[in-house]
Amino acid sequence: MTTARNPRSGDGDRAGSPRRRSRVGAATPRRSRPPVPARPAWVPLRRPAPQASPALVLPLVFAGAAVVTLGCWAGPASTTGVAGWLAWAGRLTGLLAGYACAVLLGLMARVPALDRGVGADRLARWHAAGGRLTLGLAAVHMLFATAAHVARSGAGVLEGTLGLILHGPAILAATAGLAILTAVGVVSARAVRRRMRYETWHYLHFLTYGAVYLAFAHQLTGPDFSGDPVTTTFWQALYAGVAAALAWYRFLTPVRRALRHRLRVAGVRLESPTVVSVYVTGRRLDELGAEPGQFFRWRFLAPGMWWSANPYSLSAPANPRFLRITVKAVGDHSRALARLRPGVRVWAEGPYGALTAARRRGPRVLLIGGGVGISPLRTLFETLPGEVTLVYMARRDEELVLRDELDAIAAARGATVHYTVDDLTATTTGHTVPLTGRSLRTLIPGLADHDVYLCGPEGMTAAARHALRRAGVPSRRVHLERFDF
Ligand SMILES: Cc1cc2nc3c(=O)[nH]c(=O)nc-3n(C[C@H](O)[C@H](O)[C@H](O)COP(=O)(O)OP(=O)(O)OC[C@H]3O[C@@H](n4cnc5c(N)ncnc54)[C@H](O)[C@@H]3O)c2cc1C
Repeated sequence: MTTARNPRSGDGDRAGSPRRRSRVGAATPRRSRPPVPARPAWVPLRRPAPQASPALVLPLVFAGAAVVTLGCWAGPASTTGVAGWLAWAGRLTGLLAGYACAVLLGLMARVPALDRGVGADRLARWHAAGGRLTLGLAAVHMLFATAAHVARSGAGVLEGTLGLILHGPAILAATAGLAILTAVGVVSARAVRRRMRYETWHYLHFLTYGAVYLAFAHQLTGPDFSGDPVTTTFWQALYAGVAAALAWYRFLTPVRRALRHRLRVAGVRLESPTVVSVYVTGRRLDELGAEPGQFFRWRFLAPGMWWSANPYSLSAPANPRFLRITVKAVGDHSRALARLRPGVRVWAEGPYGALTAARRRGPRVLLIGGGVGISPLRTLFETLPGEVTLVYMARRDEELVLRDELDAIAAARGATVHYTVDDLTATTTGHTVPLTGRSLRTLIPGLADHDVYLCGPEGMTAAARHALRRAGVPSRRVHLERFDF
């Protein structure tokens, strides 16, 4: 480990300006000391962005489920005899599955208040867990409904099942919807998904819109809705609201922004043999409202790249002249960035993410970055007010990218950077800090009073969280960005 504190200061220009640092057209190694501003370079939002905290969102979701359950309980349907109870259980599970579908789509609508408040990675985890629950509810609903139909009609199981499915177009469509949901559930299972390209899985996931659409009509045919304009209007409004949010935030806003900002690649810079920084320019960049720590989904309109939009964090504070990302080559998309040419059009969807200054609860902050997880932390290191310390971990020296900038920021704001590497055979840093509670406590005096921002590979973040717990940092003060949802 080496510690950088107050080295020579920068020359006053912005960190990593593309004019000064990028070699236009191709990624070329270059290692000049980057200039860093004496004061934060990011453009603050004009007004504070609204946020919906997890402590508000989850109770609201469960309250909605309780209302649905109570509505079903108090509904007009008969519960006489076994068939009546089976039908009632079928309706309850069906209504809950229908409600959950709307919630799941709403969570992934990329509503800014949700995204900033809850965080895109946590939303994705909720969505995955909720997806499994919804599929289970829908399957149980079908079983109960079929059993009730068989019990009432007195037909055999096969005949009764077919009779129900073919009862009318709405139920036939819903059955097709359930089949599609099941197929999406199967490809989302970890073991299957791992064998699949991310984009294949992602585009297959869009089929869920069709599945939900197919299932919608039959939801309104049950006794809880028929003849009751209040419940029918409520249900329609729920789905219409979610559809409007999806259309607005996932489709219209990105198009509107692309036309407004007209982003283009300005240059590419090689930071290490496997890491590049891409500089993007455009119009009215200050109006993007991107905060340090946030990310965009980047679609580069270059041959072979336009069909995928990958998430990368800003690695320099957004400013009116450029946006910058710093990316490690791990697969097709990230590898192709090194070949981007200046002028390539860019669609950036965002900003997203909750790893921002708003998470901070006190004036002292520790940033722990592993490998390319330094990207969002680099912007926070420059811009967070208060006392900030950075611990930057990598396996080898050459993986400690953006080091000149970090040293210059440390100098400009009087902050401390601790570099630590695993491989001590060829290092200029020369030290390694084990990720244990004791070593972190020794390194950072008063650690338990810090907010900790954490970003890096899964194993490293898991070890860091464990160490921080041992060091007495409450988990509510550990703010994590995962790169793997
Ligand atoms: C919020 C967030 C911020 C990130 N910021 C950075 C960053 O600043 N620098 C950096 O180097 N990496 C970052 N990543 C990781 C980066 O997105 C992936 O490494 C990259 O998308 C891999 O794509 P690929 O085609 O090169 O590799 P692949 O081999 O296709 O993918 C490798 C893995 O990356 C993930 N991935 C791929 N495509 C996507 C996608 N469109 N959306 C979500 N996950 C995907 C999947 O888990 C996949 O298994 C970030 C990830 C997230 C979720």
